[in-house]
Amino acid sequence: MACVAEARGGYTQPIGAARVQRERLFVFGYGFFVWYISESPLHQIRISAKNLGDVAHPDFCPRCFWVKLHAKKLPYQIFPGIFSSIDSYTRLYMRGHLERHQQLPAWLQGLGNVQSVYEGSLHYSKFNILDDTTNILLTGTPDEIFMLGNSEYIIVDYKTARYTGAQDRLYKIYETQLNGYAWIGQQRGIRPITGLSLVYMELITNEDALVHGGNLREGGFAMGFSAFIHPVTLDLTLIPPLLEKTREIFDMPVAPACREGCKDCEQVESLIALLNGGHPYDQ
Ligand code: SF4
Repeated sequence: MACVAEARGGYTQPIGAARVQRERLFVFGYGFFVWYISESPLHQIRISAKNLGDVAHPDFCPRCFWVKLHAKKLPYQIFPGIFSSIDSYTRLYMRGHLERHQQLPAWLQGLGNVQSVYEGSLHYSKFNILDDTTNILLTGTPDEIFMLGNSEYIIVDYKTARYTGAQDRLYKIYETQLNGYAWIGQQRGIRPITGLSLVYMELITNEDALVHGGNLREGGFAMGFSAFIHPVTLDLTLIPPLLEKTREIFDMPVAPACREGCKDCEQVESLIALLNGGHPYDQ
C-alpha cells in the first residue's frame, strides 16, 4: 500500500496572463515513486480601486474582506442615492464651466492650468487593468481626469463631505482609490499622470445661509457648497502589495478569525444563533 512520504506546500508560477498553483507530492510505493503535480488556475478576481482601499484602512479586518470578496451579495446594502447625484452634478457643472469659459471656476484653479478633460471612457468596464502577477482585474470609475496645458494629466475625485483633510477616517481608502486610478490610467496609456486630488464639496449650513434671501426658491430652497482641494501623493508603489494581500486573503479556504472585540461580529453571531432557533431574549 502506498503512503505519502513527503508533501511540499503549494507555490505559484506565472503562465501567460494567469498563474497556476502547483502542489508536489512525493508518493512512495513498493519500490517506485510517483511525482505528482497538480495545476489549478488562480481564480480571477475583480475589485474596484475603492474597495482595494479597504486593505489600507487602519481598522482593516481580513475576515470582513474575505466575506466581501466571496459573497455574491451582502444584505442590508441600501444607500441614499443623493451623494452620487451631487457628485455627478458637480462633475457636469465643472465640465460645463470649462467648456464655456476655457477654465475651471476660480475656486478650483488650485488644481493647475486645466485645459480640457480626458475624453476616453471612465466607466469601470473599460477603465481597468489585469494584474498578471495576482490575476486581479483592478477597475475604477474616476470622477474626472483633466489635461493640463503642458499635456500632463491629473485625476480628481469629488467627495460630498465635510473637509477634514488627512484626518478623514476614510483617507487611506481615498488615497488608494486615487493611486489605483493612476495605476490603471498609466497602463492604459494616459500619461504622464502627475497629480491626484480630492475635491471636497462641503455643504454651507451656517446662519448666514439660513437667512440669505437668494436661497429662497419658488417651491423650495437652494443649498450652497464650498470647495476644498486636498492633494494626494502620487505613489504607485502602494498598489502591488495591496493586490498581493487581496490575493492572499481571497485564496484562504475559510474566513480568517474575527477581530477581537468587534461588536458587529458579536451581533452577527447573535443573529445566526437566533435564526438557528435561539430565543430572541437570550441574545
Ligand atoms: S470582526 Fe468585525 S470587521 Fe471583522 S468580520 Fe467581524 S464584523 Fe466584520
